[in-house]
Amino acid sequence: MGYIAAPCVGSGMCCKKGPCAFGESISKDKPQCKFLEIKEVVDSVEVYKCGKIDEIVDQPFADINPAFGAGCCMSLFNDNRKKILALIHAGRMKLPHCSPRS
Ligand code: SF4
Repeated sequence: MGYIAAPCVGSGMCCKKGPCAFGESISKDKPQCKFLEIKEVVDSVEVYKCGKIDEIVDQPFADINPAFGAGCCMSLFNDNRKKILALIHAGRMKLPHCSPRS
């Protein structure tokens, strides 16, 4: 039986914790990646996207890091993810596609 990761919903948490191999922190004191962008705001809930995806997606090993399309790596203690999931379950928004070029 294979493992199926929970889908990415664009909470932004992983890129806020620190940059991937293609990203860059805002500053020494702010580890969030400077390329993280707000994709949309639904009922005051922010959904994020990578602003560098077109540059990254065809690079060698981009399928491993940042692993677009591989699912969520930070599903625990992630309040923004919970809010986005609640909006999806309430029919207020669709599951965001966090796969390449979405
Ligand atoms: S996936 Fe994009 S936004 Fe996230 S850390 Fe990498 S470059 Fe930054």
